[in-house]
Amino acid sequence: MPELNQSLFCQKNCISLSRKDEIFEVLLEASEDLIFILDNKGCFKRVNENGAALLEFSSQELLGKHLLEFVDPNSNRVIASSLQEILESNELTTFETVLVSKSGKEIIFLITAKTIFDKSVKPELLAVAKDITSLHYEAERANDLAVKLIEAQRLIAIERERTNRRNTIIDELARLKNEFISNVSHELRTPLASIIGYSEAILSDPNMPKEVQTEFTEIILKESKKLAGLVNNVLDITKIEGGEIQLDRSNFNIIEVLNDVIEKFKPLIKEHGLSLSCDISADEVIINADKEKLRQVFEGLLNNAIKFTDSGGRIFVGARSLYKEIEIIISDTGIGIPENDILNIFQKFYRVSRPGKQISGTGLGLVFVKQIVDLHKGLITVNSEANMGTSFVIKLPKENKLQQTNKGLK
Ligand code: ADP
Repeated sequence: MPELNQSLFCQKNCISLSRKDEIFEVLLEASEDLIFILDNKGCFKRVNENGAALLEFSSQELLGKHLLEFVDPNSNRVIASSLQEILESNELTTFETVLVSKSGKEIIFLITAKTIFDKSVKPELLAVAKDITSLHYEAERANDLAVKLIEAQRLIAIERERTNRRNTIIDELARLKNEFISNVSHELRTPLASIIGYSEAILSDPNMPKEVQTEFTEIILKESKKLAGLVNNVLDITKIEGGEIQLDRSNFNIIEVLNDVIEKFKPLIKEHGLSLSCDISADEVIINADKEKLRQVFEGLLNNAIKFTDSGGRIFVGARSLYKEIEIIISDTGIGIPENDILNIFQKFYRVSRPGKQISGTGLGLVFVKQIVDLHKGLITVNSEANMGTSFVIKLPKENKLQQTNKGLK
């Protein structure tokens, strides 16, 4: 190598010891970080001025003091053992610790340290400690925010799910309403068509025989009553829902009402080719309730039992007096309710779809039944199996004998 190049090489890479010391000194004093050398006992041998200022000391004040004096007492042990480890190894090691300043402020430092060997045999430790307190808090805040973000996302997801469910319910209600309007219209149209047809027939034939006229008039009356029933049904439900309906309570024998309804329905049951059996194991059970509404409830259930049972089937009505309530069962061996529909049959306008079968109805009968039982603080349950039959069980609270006597005394 030419002599000139060789000297250039030396200038670039071979820095004399004193020059290195000088560079180290400049770096030491210029650095904003805490740079220190610990002797083999862990006491400060060198500290830069800026670094000492971070701990609110002068470098002079720190000299000779043990590092552990500035370490948070809780992490003393950990630090002591990691310092020992560093002193024993020859690796560049990084760890975090909390040092406490003169005024008691806790400062989090990221310390990178390595063992150095001085002329003396004992190893020493050179460390650069970076104040990462604000970084740490930023990270904590970011963590907090991340947790809050996750929570917010979870709430948004729940809210979205709720909105979707609400929309589905609204769609379903709209669908049911449309179905209801078409059902009601159909239900209105059929009796209306009869009423109009038979009235026109009577009017257009002044010479119509008296018996025919009477027969037609009876049909008109029957269809008109059907219409009135339907309208009343819709109005009743609307009133119950609006909280307008008050129960007209009185003390009466529920068994008597049930027997009345059974008697009334016997001809219709026979007409449909059905058989009836009863098991009513009490003569008198007094309840405090709305007699007419409960009569409508039994009639509604019996009507359904007849409507949904083919000729040859059986209908059963049972009643038994329990400790505090009366239990009434109305069951049939009819077409039953598919499992998937059972949960919905007490919903407004809900009708089990029965392809190929033309069964009239509005999907309001059971809504009324349940609303009335609920108003009496009773319970209605249904058991059914497709093609096997259906059983409705109603439990109603009995009139408390004590209350009854007290009322009588007043
Ligand atoms: P609807 O006017 O349609 O009869 P309900 O509210 O009385 O309305 O009944 C709702 C649905 O429950 C009916 O569409 C019917 O399919 C089913 N249901 C009610 N009672 C019976 C029963 N005894 N047997 C079979 N299905 C029944």
